[in-house]
Amino acid sequence: MSSASSSSRPLTLSGYPRAIAHVDGDAFFTSVEQSVHPEWKGCPVVTGQERGIIACASYEAKALGIKRGVALWEAQRMCPELVVVPSDYELYSLYSKRMFEIMRRYTPMVEEHSIDEGFVDLSGLRRVFHGSYEAIAREMQATIRRELDIGVSVGLGPSKSIAKLASKFRKPYGFTPVAGYHLHLFIPRILLSDVWGFGRNTVQLLQQYGLRTAWDVVQRSEAWISQLLGKPGREIWHELRGESIYAVNPEEKTSYTTISKCKTFTAPSADRAFVYAKLIRNLENAFAKLRRYKLSTRVITVALRTKGFMQQGMEARLSRPTSATQEVLPVVRTLFDELYQPGEAYRTTMIALGKLQEDRGIQYELFEDPVRIDAMNRVAQAMDVINKRLGKHKVQLGPALDLARGEETGPRDIPPQRHNNLLPGETARKRLRIPRLAVPV
Ligand SMILES: [Mg+2]
Repeated sequence: MSSASSSSRPLTLSGYPRAIAHVDGDAFFTSVEQSVHPEWKGCPVVTGQERGIIACASYEAKALGIKRGVALWEAQRMCPELVVVPSDYELYSLYSKRMFEIMRRYTPMVEEHSIDEGFVDLSGLRRVFHGSYEAIAREMQATIRRELDIGVSVGLGPSKSIAKLASKFRKPYGFTPVAGYHLHLFIPRILLSDVWGFGRNTVQLLQQYGLRTAWDVVQRSEAWISQLLGKPGREIWHELRGESIYAVNPEEKTSYTTISKCKTFTAPSADRAFVYAKLIRNLENAFAKLRRYKLSTRVITVALRTKGFMQQGMEARLSRPTSATQEVLPVVRTLFDELYQPGEAYRTTMIALGKLQEDRGIQYELFEDPVRIDAMNRVAQAMDVINKRLGKHKVQLGPALDLARGEETGPRDIPPQRHNNLLPGETARKRLRIPRLAVPV
């Protein structure tokens, strides 16, 4: 039985029992840059200059094979006239706010999923706007383009999962409505790995049972999927069948973009353990901030800058969001080992956390060890509490202990003279703006 023949049978006859639109910015950061700098329209533009790694590539750059995550020097070799700009997250947040503000003109039922992605529940609005759900969603898309001069792709469907798959289906400036009675034509074209909520392990497991597409999933019984994947799997099964389970959550969120921590040390160092320890210190700071804002991250970038100001970075995407420092240590170690060149002296290390989202506890992948992960989370939280009480970095991760070693032995540890001359309330880093007089008494 091929999926093509089975998929000629409609899954449901209803259109939009709920009408949910997913709005997704097309190459959002570079689109914003092009909106602010119209002279860059039609040019290949990338952001991420500050890390030496591409954070976002415009469609013109993508056409040349330049993607996010590619090293900057490599991209510039591929395209010498590439426009390279540093990320301006304040600007992107501003555009993001205005984009969501446009969406909220139609309904308050808007969920900010990330800086450039949101869900809108349009259910029941046809009367109000005298038009179909498609017409309302299209107008929203056109308004965003007219007022902000950026392109977004829109998917419309009876559930959040379908809407999200639909917005990705055609890009850029795509519009893909998937009514319930067209689901049987749409989801056979969706691979398991594209389904929201299916991680790598889940996909592998389903493949062992011969499933390939979202259609194969919904053809199985609810009992079968429940037994294999539990409640999360059952919920996705319903969502893919056009039965809305995940509600659009209109709570307004604080702006979240990326968290980055960057440290320059006074004398550049070629001591591998010392440089790594500095990086881990940044990691701890970044994760402490992440937990303070009750967020979790999915993308980690590590960057190192040499004495000669050459910057190189690499990023890793995690299979699911996390806020536990320990959990990402192996990933950070790997990135560091890739970047670190023995014999080279480094002056700066940086960690950036991206794809931030509200920390809603963990949705475990299958085969993961919830007890171990839970333990790591609790260690992280305990460290936050202790460090808050006793002072920063009283408790720290093992690798950061190399800092103490390096600080005691190296010549870099000789503190500048001003450190010995602190006024009450000052620290080596924070100086009060009080003029000082050296008066012999
Ligand atoms: Mg996007």
